[in-house]
Amino acid sequence: MLEIVPDIAFKKALKRDSRASLNECIQCGTCSVVCTLAPAERPFPRKEMIWAAWGLKDKLIGNPDIWLCHQCGDCTTHCPRSVKPSDVLSSVRQISYRHYARPNFLGTLVSNPAWFPVALLIPVIIIIAILMMAGTLTIPEGPVNYSAFFPHAWLNGSFTLITFLVYGMAAYGLMKFRSDLKSRFPGIKSQQSFFRSLWQVKREMWLHTRFGECTAQRSRKIAHILVFYGFVLLLFVTAYAIVAAITHNYPLRMINPFKLVGNVAGLMLIVGLSIMIINRLVHKRVYGTSNYSDWLLLISFFLLTISGIVVQFARFQNWGSAYHLYFFHLVCVWFVIIYLPYTKFAHMAYRTLALTYANSIGRK
Ligand code: SF4
Ligand code: SF4
Repeated sequence: MLEIVPDIAFKKALKRDSRASLNECIQCGTCSVVCTLAPAERPFPRKEMIWAAWGLKDKLIGNPDIWLCHQCGDCTTHCPRSVKPSDVLSSVRQISYRHYARPNFLGTLVSNPAWFPVALLIPVIIIIAILMMAGTLTIPEGPVNYSAFFPHAWLNGSFTLITFLVYGMAAYGLMKFRSDLKSRFPGIKSQQSFFRSLWQVKREMWLHTRFGECTAQRSRKIAHILVFYGFVLLLFVTAYAIVAAITHNYPLRMINPFKLVGNVAGLMLIVGLSIMIINRLVHKRVYGTSNYSDWLLLISFFLLTISGIVVQFARFQNWGSAYHLYFFHLVCVWFVIIYLPYTKFAHMAYRTLALTYANSIGRK
């Protein structure tokens, strides 16, 4: 006899994060019918909804189908019981990457508002400690020069080292996730190589083709394209800035082409993130319930972009508060880049891996 063992703590977390009334689902299947991304065989999200109602954590965590969903909200719009399947899948994804996050406590730190003061104190204390070691924990005299406050070698060296350490631990969680993905489809062999599947998935992501298939949220595709390419450009410019700092061609002048590209990227991010924030505030029915993890990523990313732009003007204008703003900007960098494996940003890695696996076994 098949024994069903519900995980009550998991179900409670799911209800709290999604604010969905899981037991109201009548398994009508409308959500799976309207979903344009669900495969014909064993479509989602109807089966995930019954697993969620029963608290079957093991069935949901490590299930590639929850990552095939792009949270377009079509299923929520059509659900006759207003159960919000789109929000439920979104919450399962968030619980998933927290489940795999190593060390676990960092996942809790950035997913629970009660821990926000600690999440904030960690970068503040570490940055102050690095400044003390560099012997520059004072506001420099004269024209604003950020490298006199935080020498580039210390900044680039320490942040790169910490990022590698954190991402190294996160890679362990990703490996566990990959083995769980395979265990969900026992006996099914890959139809093509991992790298060929990865290339196809990446191409789809770069073109944002799946977003175009959702009908309930048209502006979401534009917002994602702006944020995605704005972020890629910003990473490119940051990499150039690190090289420029090593070769002493720094700081960049305002008319430097890389500086201009960086500002264009900043504007793309501000517009894209603003659309996302407005959509979540105004169109709650279509865009779904926004929980703490959603807001933490959106707001920290927004503040990172705004502070990056303000910090450069503070340097050109020699503002008295420039160094304080710079410190704040570095804390934002920590929240977006170093906490990445534990925030909603982790979607990038988990979704890529899940889609690549699904693609390799022909589940499209
Ligand atoms: S979530 Fe809504 S649409 Fe989907 S099966 Fe349940 S009641 Fe039907
Ligand atoms: S949110 Fe969109 S993609 Fe996700 S299950 Fe619902 S209809 Fe499908």
